[in-house]
Amino acid sequence: MNLSGTGFAACWRMQFGYAAAIAVVMTFTTAIVGTAEATEPQERELPAPAAWAALERGDAAKAAAIFREELERSPRNAMLYYGAGYAAFTLGRSDAAISALKRAIEYNPRFVPAMVLLSQVAYQGADLDLALRTMEKAAALAPGDRAITQQLEQWRRESALHSRFEERPGARFRVLFEGAAEKTISDRVAGVLESVYWSIGKRLNSYPGETLTVILYTNRQFQDITRAPAWAGGGYDGRIRLPVEGALRSPKTLDRVVTHEFVHAVITNAAPRGVPTWIHEGLASYLESSDRSWVARVLKSAGVRIPLEDLADGFDRFDGETALVAYAESLVGGQLLCERLGANVGPFLQMLGSGHTVDQALSTHGVQPDSFYAQWRARIGVK
Ligand SMILES: [Zn+2]
Repeated sequence: MNLSGTGFAACWRMQFGYAAAIAVVMTFTTAIVGTAEATEPQERELPAPAAWAALERGDAAKAAAIFREELERSPRNAMLYYGAGYAAFTLGRSDAAISALKRAIEYNPRFVPAMVLLSQVAYQGADLDLALRTMEKAAALAPGDRAITQQLEQWRRESALHSRFEERPGARFRVLFEGAAEKTISDRVAGVLESVYWSIGKRLNSYPGETLTVILYTNRQFQDITRAPAWAGGGYDGRIRLPVEGALRSPKTLDRVVTHEFVHAVITNAAPRGVPTWIHEGLASYLESSDRSWVARVLKSAGVRIPLEDLADGFDRFDGETALVAYAESLVGGQLLCERLGANVGPFLQMLGSGHTVDQALSTHGVQPDSFYAQWRARIGVK
């Protein structure tokens, strides 16, 4: 089921779960420190333990500061660069993360975890070439690692597919597509994006400065590349991905989906990390169109409500019907944010991006969290 047919744009977003990621980094670290033969002598002991501890408790800014200081003392320590790269990545500073991780690999050319992380950061920043090149090096050093091999295969498929595509260049948006039918769609998509760039940017006080890549797919290609749930009508993971087969039969729906995905890009520009799913999806669904009649319909016909605390960590696990309710509840939350915060939605998002909780960011902008949640519950019909 594709939920776009129900009157709104459901979508898929690749998420880097912070908790999962830090578990990965600690495992890597243990592995690196634990196996002497595969590493340089300098990596046998974990340098700057206070910085790793700060990373683990979620204080990436503190970690970044310690790593920076330590690097002044040991400017050729690959592990410190790895930590600095990880902290920068956590803070949403992709460029800094990439340059630190490249240094880590320069000083330890067998540093597989640094290669894996670099490739992930590059991929998330829509640099598939760097991601692929780096993951190939990792695969050569760790041929038995299935996760690496599988990721590499998937990226190779994506790269092979995209190499057939044409490009509609643009300063703010480059649109990749295949074939004459998609050419017409690419013109429409580019037009929509140009027109919402300022309106959405103004609303969220954030204007993506880098060229945003938009890739148009057949439904099958979209499924193959994203592995999104069948209900997804689009996706954002550093670039906008859209299944557009037959999209011009319903151009208004296409416009909504494009606008929806662009909102994700703008939010990510304001706050690369720390934004719960209900805020991402709630704002995207609220701002995609002024026709929100589907929300009342969905909430009326659905017998259940999803607890608000279950709306924070991605909707991919939901089936189509549950996802509908999740989007409806989120839209109500997103609308409420816009109403209560007014012009402060942008600064609110930036606070989330710099590591503050939703409650802290609400309070800072004069919205009492308890009253916010009570109002949200009342609007979706939960006592
Ligand atoms: Zn979405």
